[in-house]
Amino acid sequence: MNNINLVKNYIKIEKGVAILGVQYDLEKVLLSDYNQSWSHNGVSGERIAKRLGDLSKIGLTSQHGVSRVGFSPLEQQAKELVMNWMRDAGMSVIQDGAGNVVGRIAGLNKDADSIASGSHVDSVPEGGHFDGPLGVITALEVAESWKDQGITPTKPYEVYIFTDEEGTRFNGGLTGSRAMTGALDMETQVTLKDADGFTFEEVLATTGKKLEGFTQAKRENLGIERFIEVHIEQGKKLEQANLSVGIVKGIAGPSWTEIIYEGKAGHAGNTPMDDRQDALTAACELILYIENAPLLVSTTGVATVGKMQVEPNGANVIPGKVTLITDIRDIEEHSRDQIVSNVVNKAQEIATSRNVEVTITEKMRTAPVPIGDEMTRILNSVFDEMKINKQYLVSGAGHDAMMLGAHIPVAMIFTRSKDGVSHNPAEWTTLTDCTISAHVLKQAIEKCMEQ
Ligand SMILES: [Zn+2]
Repeated sequence: MNNINLVKNYIKIEKGVAILGVQYDLEKVLLSDYNQSWSHNGVSGERIAKRLGDLSKIGLTSQHGVSRVGFSPLEQQAKELVMNWMRDAGMSVIQDGAGNVVGRIAGLNKDADSIASGSHVDSVPEGGHFDGPLGVITALEVAESWKDQGITPTKPYEVYIFTDEEGTRFNGGLTGSRAMTGALDMETQVTLKDADGFTFEEVLATTGKKLEGFTQAKRENLGIERFIEVHIEQGKKLEQANLSVGIVKGIAGPSWTEIIYEGKAGHAGNTPMDDRQDALTAACELILYIENAPLLVSTTGVATVGKMQVEPNGANVIPGKVTLITDIRDIEEHSRDQIVSNVVNKAQEIATSRNVEVTITEKMRTAPVPIGDEMTRILNSVFDEMKINKQYLVSGAGHDAMMLGAHIPVAMIFTRSKDGVSHNPAEWTTLTDCTISAHVLKQAIEKCMEQ
């Protein structure tokens, strides 16, 4: 009894500390080893640190990470903070029906399509402070640098914050950029429920948004000529090469499939081992298959089960139902699809052999996006001018740039990420590397303005 009480008290205190406010000064830590010589040409590392620091406070966790999931009031709060900075930078600001934020400088040629950059401010639960915010803050830094230098760009320049990139709540992801590019299937979207059983519409209502907004957010013509996104690498290649930034050559397309096994819940004590329809053992057999599935097809493919729900989830009850999501990616569409179909076949095979029901639903399938030669040429010339060795990278993660890449030329700049860690409070990129990325982005955007 005493032990149980101790645990309860401990949890209470933990939560109390989190609610009272976690002491963590990201700005100060960032500035501690910053090479100030990178604050020039209108780009300010100090401003980048201040802004990353201010954003980190919205949803800061006791682990010094951030929990700012899509469609939460915290995501909206972060957007509003950036919208204020956009206005201060002299941008006009709108938020579309899907909650995507667009800050815009009209430019000299007001009727031209825009050159654009941006990313997202939502995070996974207990995520880091750079995945997303770095792309938004560096995009905004380009506008700030022009303001400091008294430059008006030739064409319109836009900074985007896309809604719910991570897709934590509804197992989707890229929700805002999919809505904008017309790739969001609203018929499916309205059927989605979060872990607490709330529908997409009900969750939207808590942030003051409506379903119609998502339909209206679709643009017939994007009005964007080119888009460049800065993002942390989420891998170790740049760190191993001792480089601050790299050029992305292609973005792997993710495919998410929901697999539900339904067996029979029963008493763990009274049901003999030869008379069970255990949904969880079926799921486990599949998960072990999935671990080896990519290598049978491709050296660049990856497959993960990161989310699983067991019902009724009782210590003395045989699991009657298991819902899991498979995340399968590759940079080539045909090999990615081959891995997916192998997993689906295996899921069915296991259901038959274990006498359980299986329901398989594709949740998302996004085509990989190669980066075009012209955008690569622009980044190559920026790297040459800045005397940075060119390291080409493949993005294993999906990004908002990928959704736009189906319609317009896009590019991505990756920034060195300590130990390749992301989606974790330990995610870290030095301020010097963040600021170098802002310089690369600024020069690349300026070259796009001249095209
Ligand atoms: Zn991201």
